[in-house]
Amino acid sequence: MTPRMTKETLFRNARVLDVAAGVYLDNQSVLVRDGKIVAVAKDAHQQASAEAETIDVKGRVLMPGLCDGHVHVTAFTADFAMLGRTAPTYVSVRSSELLKGMTERGFTTVRDAGGADWGLAKAVNEGRILGPRLLHCGRALSQTGGHADMRGPGEQNLDQCLCCSGLGTVCDGVPEMRKACREEIRRGATHLKLMVSGGVASPTDRIDSTQFALEEIRAACEEAEAANIPVMAHAYTSRAVVRALECGVDSIEHGNLLDQDAVDTLLRLDRWLVPTMSIYRALAEEGVDAGMPAELNAKVSDVLDAGRDALRLAVKGGVKLVYGTDLLGQMQRHQLNEFALRSEFLAPIDIIRSATTEAANLFRMADRIGQVKEGMLADLLIIDGDVLDSVAPWADAENTIRMVMKEGVVQVAKG
Ligand code: ZN
Ligand code: ZN
Repeated sequence: MTPRMTKETLFRNARVLDVAAGVYLDNQSVLVRDGKIVAVAKDAHQQASAEAETIDVKGRVLMPGLCDGHVHVTAFTADFAMLGRTAPTYVSVRSSELLKGMTERGFTTVRDAGGADWGLAKAVNEGRILGPRLLHCGRALSQTGGHADMRGPGEQNLDQCLCCSGLGTVCDGVPEMRKACREEIRRGATHLKLMVSGGVASPTDRIDSTQFALEEIRAACEEAEAANIPVMAHAYTSRAVVRALECGVDSIEHGNLLDQDAVDTLLRLDRWLVPTMSIYRALAEEGVDAGMPAELNAKVSDVLDAGRDALRLAVKGGVKLVYGTDLLGQMQRHQLNEFALRSEFLAPIDIIRSATTEAANLFRMADRIGQVKEGMLADLLIIDGDVLDSVAPWADAENTIRMVMKEGVVQVAKG
């Protein structure tokens, strides 16, 4: 029997960002052993063994790795119909490129909102491809003609093969909903995704429509509760947001057309909002180049400005926010642009919290990720610049992000 290797990394001279308190702790040593943070203190180096690999942080910021609460790691194109017709083997390779990009941008945990499955997560977990820890829901669940029904009005055939590369599954009625939820849970889903309103990328629905009957949403929430996993719900209008929250979903995705009623419901039920400003900005600027059908442009402009107003309202009300981007295809390179877009209404530390501690709360992983603290998984990032003072360091991530570690393993190192 081979002895178990103890892998130790010691960070010295670190300016640790205490995300919860919103302050820096200077001149810290951080000791990582077997993937976990075992000590954060000025004298933590005294606990290191002789074998520990030492990284001099040179006074730069050492902070928790980022979380993105809404990604699509299989969406190498913004043309969903085309994605569904592409060989899954090819999609996997393109996904691995997208995942690598996320790691390079400092993300150590991402929550996929439709498309990724246990196979990709397994490949990441085994270190076969570079990528953030991947939370996956398998297929997003949609009603007939809903946001994940990618058939045009002239198409009748519905291909529901779970082995193909689509983002969604169509199900109608409580028995089909339960069956679809249980299939995803059987395949290891870490959460469920429901489409409870119309959306931008879907060819036949209306942005202002609600989707799924209340009993269908309730059935999905009951299945998720049974499996102890959260439910994320795509919704734009207040009407769609409120009815989904009342049925028990954990987070509202986008929420661009919400009003005070929805804000009040989010607060009363203590749920999360995951605004995804980046995608609408990117779609407006380069969506068609990235594969989005041009006829969807009108829908994009309907929700783009509204999203700003919605975020302003949610911030004013004190709604719990999680970082999310929802970017597709080549637009995924804008993943850190959400910092700049949210900075109109939020302080840099609040955006950081949405991408660390608050995301961890939503993911039900607050005991493992989101802080540089003893006992946490060693998901760490070294960044140049003052991230409490401004969001500028995120705009120049290629140069400012010096190192990314996930569970004790260095993923990106630039010295
Ligand atoms: Zn959506
Ligand atoms: Zn999405």
